[in-house]
Amino acid sequence: MLLIACPWCGPREEVEFRYGGQAHLHHPTDPWTLDDAQWAEYLFTRDNPEGWFTERWCHIHGCRQWFVAERDTRTYEFRPNPAEEARRG
Ligand SMILES: [Zn+2]
Repeated sequence: MLLIACPWCGPREEVEFRYGGQAHLHHPTDPWTLDDAQWAEYLFTRDNPEGWFTERWCHIHGCRQWFVAERDTRTYEFRPNPAEEARRG
């Protein structure tokens, strides 16, 4: 059983969460200027590191809050995102 630490609720089982993909993606500021290849890059291309990866998660069956966490893609180990911790105070 994998436990994920919700910043608001504490450790909960993985089944309570929804994966939200790579964190810190930015919508193009001028999307009408992009060609098809650039749109495809924006929509479908994501980082795929071996090691720590910053991701968005939602505690969908709990407090329903979105948060950013870091997960090691090799071991599934989670650690809190320092920026998220600082934001919450
Ligand atoms: Zn929660």
